[in-house]
Amino acid sequence: MIDTGATSDPDRFPLRATVDALIEDWLLRNPRAQYGLTVAHTHGHGDHIAGDGQFSGRPGTVVVGPGLDDVTSHFGLDGWPHRTAELDLGGRVLDLVPGPGHQSAALVFYDRHTGLLLTGDSLYPGRLYVDDRAAYAATVDRLLDFCASRPVTHVLGCHIEMTTTADVDYPAGTTYQPDEPPLQLSTTHLHTLRRALVETAGRTGSHPYGEFIVV
Ligand SMILES: [Zn+2]
Repeated sequence: MIDTGATSDPDRFPLRATVDALIEDWLLRNPRAQYGLTVAHTHGHGDHIAGDGQFSGRPGTVVVGPGLDDVTSHFGLDGWPHRTAELDLGGRVLDLVPGPGHQSAALVFYDRHTGLLLTGDSLYPGRLYVDDRAAYAATVDRLLDFCASRPVTHVLGCHIEMTTTADVDYPAGTTYQPDEPPLQLSTTHLHTLRRALVETAGRTGSHPYGEFIVV
């Protein structure tokens, strides 16, 4: 499982019960003696880890801490942020690509089976908050390099904040977005993002680039 959301209260946000039911249902159709659940994160911001506590004490479950040391040691990410690692789920391998810049311990997940690139808050149809510009630019270059030799079906981030009108986003805190675009982006947007970082080098503020805004 990747990310646990923005709400800790299991009454308001029954994530654990939902995941338990999904696994139980899957095991009925795919019986096996045992399995493990790894709770990982795209990064450690509060709206991605708030539900972690619902999984503490769950049998066969590892909740990977969101700190850089937790992430690198658990996944064997030596030489951070220059080297990738593999996570073998059992006949299904994920590639883990270091993605600092939005946050210092951010990770990007690539699922070879589906070709999905899960970019967390590093690229999605919304406001891309850049904390460390140099690290972020290096992450975009790393992802472009990584994707150049692999099929990428969709680039999936963690939020939608844009409207379907280019350059126009919903205000922060909006809870009803009838005109939001779909979540999926493509590697074309990675190229646009790289160009955006070059063109806005040394400038603060918000820089709209159609389907996302660099902040
Ligand atoms: Zn974030």
